[in-house]
Amino acid sequence: VRVRPLTCTETRRGDRRVVHSLGDGTVHVSAARHDATFGFSAVFDAGASQEAVFEGSGMRQLVELAIDGFSCTVFAFGQTGSGKTYTLMGPLGQSEAPAVLGLMQRSFACLLEHSRSHGPGLALSASYLEIYNEQVRDLLSPGPPCALPLRWSKTRGFYAENQLSVDFESLETIVELLLQGSRRRRTSAHALNKHSSRSHALLTIRIRSRAVSTNPAPGTNSPGKQGTLCFVDLAGSERVKDTGSTGELCVEANNINRSLLALGKSWGPPAAAAGPRYGPDVYFVARPPAGHCISLLAKPQGKRTHIPYRDSKLTRLLAHSLGGWGVTLMVACISPSSRCLSETLSTLHYASRARRVTTRP
Ligand code: ADP
Ligand code: MG
Repeated sequence: VRVRPLTCTETRRGDRRVVHSLGDGTVHVSAARHDATFGFSAVFDAGASQEAVFEGSGMRQLVELAIDGFSCTVFAFGQTGSGKTYTLMGPLGQSEAPAVLGLMQRSFACLLEHSRSHGPGLALSASYLEIYNEQVRDLLSPGPPCALPLRWSKTRGFYAENQLSVDFESLETIVELLLQGSRRRRTSAHALNKHSSRSHALLTIRIRSRAVSTNPAPGTNSPGKQGTLCFVDLAGSERVKDTGSTGELCVEANNINRSLLALGKSWGPPAAAAGPRYGPDVYFVARPPAGHCISLLAKPQGKRTHIPYRDSKLTRLLAHSLGGWGVTLMVACISPSSRCLSETLSTLHYASRARRVTTRP
């Protein structure tokens, strides 16, 4: 869990800090009618540096597992403006100071460093997709964005057909691909965040070991190993009421909510009527339906029923990392502000459920 600092706007209007990290992996939320403590594998308070998050979250180990041939995924989730993009990429375009680079750039550096210092190196390629209004689009191919069909195969699982995959060998190339792709991403300004990401973005690095040694030294990659490292920047969870979205933005919000819901995120008071209701003064209310993936995956193996990955494009593309053979790091991003209390609690409850999911890498 990462708690971002209060923003200038929040400080200026006098928001209170209602979230405090107590050390040893616990986070405490205290406000008038709420007093709750949650435990996680790691909690990063507002003062934590980008480097501390990289080193303390297990991200480095995840990169090493991917080099070793595992399917690894990291995803950032949380309310709009809670620091997901900052955590993954840093303040994109505003500053290139090394200290603020995010998990992605640090992981790329770690990968390339490994490639240079270990034997024949790694063959690396990247693809970058976004899911916008339930359409999968390629962020790397030039020209106007067009929708790619999703396919399924026994060997690959779900994948986007005809997605561009670009080989890279240097940090500059992959960082440039990340910037180019991120500029193509759909963002719109609304009340909570001036550059709100309106799509889910998935950057996947495919890693193949080039080793063809007949007698590999202990600890080196044996030939044929192929791992993936996937970074997922989810569009913010949000209630239409808080962001002041109308018209096209409202359609976007509903599509974002739809796929997050399939993933297991829910909004509004749990006792509310089931099913989405939209309107200027109405929360986007959706009671967690019986079938959302995270809750189902969090049940003990014997009690699991069918997992409805097909409910959204997002869950299809993440099926392998959510419940299959992947290794997944989930970073829950929250704001410390009193105004974000209900979203913060919802993110923390979701994160607690997500923690119980086990995969078999
Ligand atoms: P999200 O992607 O969740 O919508 P952003 O990552 O865009 O949110 O963050 C919203 C704002 O807060 C940005 O201006 C960002 O620079 C700032 N911010 C987020 N996390 C931090 C942090 N840990 N330290 C400093 N600024 C942050
Ligand atoms: Mg974002």
